[in-house]
Amino acid sequence: MKKILLVEDEREIARMIQAYLSREGFRVEVAFDGEEGWIRFQELSPNLVILDLMLPRLHGLELARRIRAGSDVPIIMLTARAEEADRVAGLELGADDYVTKPFSLRELAARVRAVLRRVEGKKPGEVLEFGPLKINLAAREVTLAGRPVELTPTEFDLLSFFAQHPGRVFTRRELLEAIQERSYASLPRTIDSHVKNLRHKLEADPAHPQFLLTVHGVGYKFHPPGEG
Ligand code: CA
Repeated sequence: MKKILLVEDEREIARMIQAYLSREGFRVEVAFDGEEGWIRFQELSPNLVILDLMLPRLHGLELARRIRAGSDVPIIMLTARAEEADRVAGLELGADDYVTKPFSLRELAARVRAVLRRVEGKKPGEVLEFGPLKINLAAREVTLAGRPVELTPTEFDLLSFFAQHPGRVFTRRELLEAIQERSYASLPRTIDSHVKNLRHKLEADPAHPQFLLTVHGVGYKFHPPGEG
């Protein structure tokens, strides 16, 4: 049974999440503040952490930083709409995803499953397949519906980085770091032009992308076709 550590100081929300995810087959342990979360994290070695950001005693971002210092455990942040700066900071610290309050329990459960699938998923070196899109990481070849797609080295690096983390939201700065070696400029907005070029090469309608989605106020994510 997968173990989830939920760190959330609003007890009613915590209980609802715990009840729902337990019914979905997870073992959910709850901590009600950041310090308790840190202690429970070390005791439990969870498979996933759901982390509210506004926490008493130790802020969620600080807890995320401590966790990331020694662990790759997936982290999903619970954030309020007004906490956009914290959300971006959390993603830059290495959180895997976030949901914005108020959220539905169904949505949260779907995110939990998606993140766990992702973590257990792909090993490097294989061919990544997303519907009509195939990415051969070793041969650096991309095909769409069987036809080769010509990409620049930077475009290939960016696409393969996205495709190895499907569904995960990245900030422009993170994407820039991911392609740093081949990048000529260092402005986060550079990413926008690479994404634009990739959309023109990959998307049936670049104005309404299906693969490379804009996440307003944050950055971009790769959306595998067929997933909600
Ligand atoms: Ca809170």
